[in-house]
Amino acid sequence: ARKAALAASSGPGATSDGHKVPLLANVGGPADVPAAVEAGAEGVGLFRTEFLFLDDSHRAPSEEKQVEAYRKVLEAFPEGRVVVRVLDAGADKPLDFLTPGDEPNPALGVRGLRSLLDHPDVLRTQLTALAKAAEGLPVYLEVMAPMVADRIDAKAFADACREAGLQAKFGAMVEIPSAALRARSILQEVEFLSLGTNDLAQYTFAADRQVGAVSRLQDPWQPALLDLVAASAEAAKAEGKSCGVCGEAAADPLLACVLTGLGVTSLSMGAASIPYVRASLAKHTLAQCERAAAAARAADTAQEARVAAQAVLSGE
Ligand code: PEP
Ligand code: MG
Repeated sequence: ARKAALAASSGPGATSDGHKVPLLANVGGPADVPAAVEAGAEGVGLFRTEFLFLDDSHRAPSEEKQVEAYRKVLEAFPEGRVVVRVLDAGADKPLDFLTPGDEPNPALGVRGLRSLLDHPDVLRTQLTALAKAAEGLPVYLEVMAPMVADRIDAKAFADACREAGLQAKFGAMVEIPSAALRARSILQEVEFLSLGTNDLAQYTFAADRQVGAVSRLQDPWQPALLDLVAASAEAAKAEGKSCGVCGEAAADPLLACVLTGLGVTSLSMGAASIPYVRASLAKHTLAQCERAAAAARAADTAQEARVAAQAVLSGE
């Protein structure tokens, strides 16, 4: 029965009363595209571009090589959305030519947008390659920066995009609590937000995502994390802009309903999770999702939040 229900699940993501929540795929490169298309992804919500940089940790790939790889992903979603994240090097994704080797706390050091602002040539080449890759395609290109801390970061990224002549929406990932708390200020510079809940959990709970001993604190059901999601989504709504989730949290079918209830406008996940999330959303109204979100935020622990949301959504 479960298989049949999933097979019947297709089409755009929406609650049972028709509130649309686009379901997008997280991809690491062209190789992940067929599974995303097969799962009925409405586009790409997170294109992690790091894969291109892994062949040679001493230098960035040429502009031509980047254009070719980006174009393959953009071509797969005609008329769809593709959100490309510029290079997120450092900490859990180190690259010799960008990442300082002597940082005592790499997760708190020069990573993500910080390393690109220190190496503007690498950022410029990537943005130029994206502009060329999108040329002549009907795709709706969005480009976002990882690890945006404040409005200064957001402006520096938007300026770099404009200077590269990129015809796209520019966005900021919300992965640092400061960005969630001051989301409205960041939205003065960019057109959308995307919550990276993996890093947002790491930085909210001071719990390294690579250290198993503190994994309890990486649980995206933590009410403090839900509060930061709510703050970001409310800010985006007030500014008339969108706020998606592209961290692991979006792949949990129950949590996907809670995120929707918190006001998140799209969900991006590994392709394999899309049918489950689609089926879960389709079973509940937006009002139920909102009640589940309120119940989860009223809880004290991740486990209590999960139980409270489940109770609301199963009509108990
Ligand atoms: C995140 O941090 O939630 C995210 C989507 O980015 P990554 O996992 O690649 O750091
Ligand atoms: Mg991240």
